[in-house]
Amino acid sequence: MISIGTTGRVGIFLCECGEEIAPVVDLTKLSAKIGGADMPVSVHVTRYWCSGAGRRLLASTIEKEGLDAVVVAGCSERMLGPLMRDTAERAGVNRNRTVLANLREHCANVHVGKRAAATAKALRLVRAGVEKALRAEKLEPIVSDVSRSVAVIGGGISGLTVARSLAARDIPVTLIERDAELGGTLRSINRLFPSYCNSAEYAGQVAAEASGDPNVEVWTSSRVTGVAGHAGDFRLTVESEGSTRELSVGCVVLATGADVLVPYGLFEYDDNTKVVTQLEFEAMLREGLGTVKRIVMIQCVGSRNEERPYCSRVCCTATVKNTITVLEQVPNAEITVLTRGFAQYVGDLDRARSAGVTFLRYDPERPPEVGVETVEVFDVISSVEVAIRYDLVVLATPLVAYDETVELAGLLGVPSDRHGFIAEPHTKLRPGKFAPRGVFVVGSAHWPATVTECQSQAYSAAARAAELLSSDVIEREPVVAVVDELTCRGCGECAEACAHDAVVMRDSDDGMKTASVDTVRCVGCGVCTQVCPSSAVTLRHLTPGQLLAMVSATVGA
Ligand SMILES: Cc1cc2nc3c(=O)[nH]c(=O)nc-3n(C[C@H](O)[C@H](O)[C@H](O)COP(=O)(O)OP(=O)(O)OC[C@H]3O[C@@H](n4cnc5c(N)ncnc54)[C@H](O)[C@@H]3O)c2cc1C
Repeated sequence: MISIGTTGRVGIFLCECGEEIAPVVDLTKLSAKIGGADMPVSVHVTRYWCSGAGRRLLASTIEKEGLDAVVVAGCSERMLGPLMRDTAERAGVNRNRTVLANLREHCANVHVGKRAAATAKALRLVRAGVEKALRAEKLEPIVSDVSRSVAVIGGGISGLTVARSLAARDIPVTLIERDAELGGTLRSINRLFPSYCNSAEYAGQVAAEASGDPNVEVWTSSRVTGVAGHAGDFRLTVESEGSTRELSVGCVVLATGADVLVPYGLFEYDDNTKVVTQLEFEAMLREGLGTVKRIVMIQCVGSRNEERPYCSRVCCTATVKNTITVLEQVPNAEITVLTRGFAQYVGDLDRARSAGVTFLRYDPERPPEVGVETVEVFDVISSVEVAIRYDLVVLATPLVAYDETVELAGLLGVPSDRHGFIAEPHTKLRPGKFAPRGVFVVGSAHWPATVTECQSQAYSAAARAAELLSSDVIEREPVVAVVDELTCRGCGECAEACAHDAVVMRDSDDGMKTASVDTVRCVGCGVCTQVCPSSAVTLRHLTPGQLLAMVSATVGA
């Protein structure tokens, strides 16, 4: 039972989470078991505490019952921690005294069909949460100055659009591009679906508008090699045309795009000069096709397979767009597109079909075979083996992440997925919001995207960055480490272990060294607390007292 030396009245908010938690955990039984005469808690259950109605109910309950600590038992801290803390804080509960007990991933999702055991475990998790909340010190946010400027890394259409949008709000931007020229992939594309405008001209025009803006400084042939700081005050190290430059900005936008897979070893690409990629074909279309008349296009080359199970989204649209351009240049061209079935929106498909383009469907288990003069394919729809004569075979290959983008993401603290793309932690609940505050990812670095999608993401990121930079100061969660100077023996292990350069060793009056935490740099990860041999470093938001009480509630409940 909850105990020793704790103060305050705790509200426990159990969440059914739709059909996620309630069918596995018996919330009625759980409500009855929580608390007791010596435990000053009130228990409430609803379908979704994260919904608008749920949050309003949570706030009014806090006010009505005069609660001064809250445990929301439902989703993870990562998913809903900030939202729940904001809601409770507005109703008067200190941010550090709102705790999340993860009944969804840590209980319901992993114990389906074991209702009694899941309910017993839920009870332990909730009790641990109560212990943590009751022992939580009331902490105030850390306030720091904001540098009203943005670094945009990557000068493709996404980065250019962010830069222009921020510049229009009078926010200074440094656009860092690794190539000598701006424009990204659009420089290599012939025409752009859906407008069929000249892609390179369009990219050039947007680049000229961005670089001509007095609020935009363009650094070409430049790469970011180091990142320090936090939202409002990032410090970047940039290798730029042979020299190293330092840059201080309030936000960072990652817009480094993606590469196009070169299909070595696939469909005779290495040995047959009549086999090209869709990107190489874009250049051929720009030059003119000459005598090429019979074209076979193969989709999903190197994607939707074991190594790259994802659909690259832009390839089918690009292929169909190119069939239409071919027919404009060579009206009697014979074009066959071999697909695996369309997984995404495909643009001008009907227009291509009625213009005479043939679409056949192949089985990935029986892929087309490219011979010297023909492509042989088993058409799944008609169950017929077909041999198609060709002058050119065009392979649609997927967008793949740059290794360098994955490294940059690591420096910025944004996790990338197993394919190297950088999606937000929750695409449905918090689209466009990435884990570290002040960092945004847009365009094909995020996931293969069309130009329209890149630009929507860019406008959204620019608006969010502008919102963050609209104030002179920024408030940060007070989740930082603290050093007890009396116990610190000055060994420096914490400073060595800190990946954020947040712990420095200072000379103390007695001639010894003492560790000191820079609260602006500290991210509260806790690594320093683990290496300290004298337990002099602790986390303000998770003290040893809280931890011990939580463990004892978990094993002893
Ligand atoms: C063959 C083909 C045809 C297509 N056709 C169409 C179409 O018709 N319509 C359409 O909407 N979309 C089309 N697309 C998709 C379109 O190309 C993308 O939507 C768009 O290029 C993505 O823009 P981006 O700025 O996100 O990335 P990119 O265009 O890839 O630009 C990224 C920029 O970042 C730079 N960069 C990379 N790494 C770093 C680094 N570490 N530091 C600094 N800079 C860096 C790169 O040099 C580049 O300039 C097509 C794609 C392909 C491959």
